[in-house]
Parts: sequence; structure tokens; C-alpha cells
Amino acid sequence: MIDTILEVDRIRKKYVIEKSFLGREKIVLDAVNDISFSIKKGECFALVGESGCGKSTTARTILKLIDADGGKVIFEDKTLFDVENKKSISNKEMCRLRKDMQIIFQDPFASLDKRMKVGQIIAEGIKKHRLIHGKDAFNIAEEYLRICGMDKEAINRYPHEFSGGQRQRIGIARALAVQPKFVVADEPVASLDVSIQAQIINLLNELKTRYLLTFLFISHDLGVVKYFCDRIAVMYLGNIVELAEKKDLFDNPMHPYTKMLLESMPVSHPKLRKQRLSIKESEMTLKDRENGCKFCNRCLYAYERCKNEIPVFKEIEGDHFIACHLYD
Ligand code: SF4
Repeated sequence: MIDTILEVDRIRKKYVIEKSFLGREKIVLDAVNDISFSIKKGECFALVGESGCGKSTTARTILKLIDADGGKVIFEDKTLFDVENKKSISNKEMCRLRKDMQIIFQDPFASLDKRMKVGQIIAEGIKKHRLIHGKDAFNIAEEYLRICGMDKEAINRYPHEFSGGQRQRIGIARALAVQPKFVVADEPVASLDVSIQAQIINLLNELKTRYLLTFLFISHDLGVVKYFCDRIAVMYLGNIVELAEKKDLFDNPMHPYTKMLLESMPVSHPKLRKQRLSIKESEMTLKDRENGCKFCNRCLYAYERCKNEIPVFKEIEGDHFIACHLYD
């Protein structure tokens, strides 16, 4: 585990949804179901899949923003939680670790406090985690704003005075100003215009190299992760169905769902893409999800076994993992 910064071992998260008005009927949804992967220092690891597949829940569980129902996460040499062995890092220690584990949120409009000036927003983390106070904290905030492509005057303005792309730059400056080792970028460009998306991805690329950062990058768009990530895990309804080096995944996609995602890439309008991918989702029954491959109802290659047997996630060839009966 010398060059591994994060190890995720069979984490699980369930949500119970009340179906009837009085809450008598309940559905248990496996938002994250036995997910395992590790991330090397300096690597950018992507979790990709349609919205609702569990990628953000995975990230939030790893960061202990929500509690896991099972599994274990180790960051560097610290066990953040190990549900089966009833171990969990103390709140005080987790608070200290938040300096090293930062998150950039999807929505730059909601993630910044409207009542605070930009300088205060960024300096808050610097004061708390780097124990630097007064003017020095604001000087550092100004420096990170500059690095993220903003004028230093931004420090005295409020978030609502900026565009979506500029607010995301402020969010990035806030995350990086505490000098983290590991950053979760949760759909950081999903709510931005396409031209602004490219600028933010370029900025993240520069910062990754400059500060030797490790990223867990979450996206519904394979086109975005193509330019940023080293390895990609494709998620479908709570499970990783394929995991490979970026080049391997794009040159040689194996799982039918990954192929479908790649085929959807040329469709430029997000609404059209969503329609195409969701075409058979409503036909899926809970029984299908429990007993067989969750992708069964949408898969062009499905056969009888797929309905009755859950495919095992396994290595097919060097560092290329897949969960599909076609490769048994
Ligand atoms: Fe398709 Fe069957 Fe493979 Fe699932 S296991 S992806 S249904 S072929």
C-alpha cells in the first residue's frame, strides 16, 4: 500500500423509501452496493454513470459526510471507518483530516454562502485548517483566487456578483487553499456551459500537476473524464460494472453499459442523451435488480442467465475489471 492514498473496500449504503402514504410499504434501495477500488497518490480516478447510479453517494460515504451501512475506507494509514469491525475515526480526528480531504461541489450557486464575501469564504478554511489568521489568511485567499484565474478584487465581493464559471473557480480556490492531498470533484462542471466546462477542466488539470493532487472525479459524462482522468470506473445502479485505465476503456470497452455510454457521447444535447439512455429504465422490476444483472432490461446481449444470476466483478485482463456473464 506504499503509493495508495485511498482504499475503499466493499462499501455499502442503503436508503429506505416509504412507498405508501402511511409509510407501511417500504422499498430498500441499494444506492451503493459492495463497491471496492483504490486510488494511487497523484492519480485521477473517475466514477462515471447516469444520475442516480450512486456515484455521489459513494463519494460522500468515503468522506464520512454520510454513514456507511457496510465496508471499510482507509485514507493513507488511517481507517476512517470499518463497519463490520465497528471501528470509526473520532469526529475530532476526522475534522483534522478534512484539511487533507476536500470536496468541490457540483452546484457553484448553492455551495457558497451568499451572506459572506468571497475573501471570508476562502479564509474561513485557511484559518481553521492552516491556523493562519488575520490579514495573512486573506493574502493567501487572494493568492489562490489569482491561481484560479480570478482578480484579487473578487475578495471583497459577494458570490451572487459572479457567473457560474467564476463561482466554480471560487469553489476550487476554497478547496485548494487549505492544501489538501485528496480532492473529490463532484460533477464540478455539470451545471456550466460547454465553453466554461473546458476552462474549468483545463484549470483543474493545471492545478493537479502543480500541486500533485489526487482526485476522485465524479461525472455523468465520459467526454469530460476523457480529458482529465487516469482510470475510470463505470457505475450502474449502485455497482461498478467496469473499471480500467482510461485508454483501455475508450479503446476496448467491454461492458454493454459502457458501450452504450460511449455511443451516447456524440449526442450533444443533454436532454436527448438522457432520453436515449433511460429508454428501458421504467421496465425494470425490483426482482430483476435483486436476482440478476441490474442492466438486464436494457442490455442488447442479455440472455436467460442474466435474469437469474448476479454477475461477479472480476479481472478479465491486466487491470481491466468487469461484471458481465459474457466474459465468464
Ligand atoms: Fe448484459 Fe447479461 Fe452482461 Fe448484464 S450480464 S451486461 S444483462 S450480458
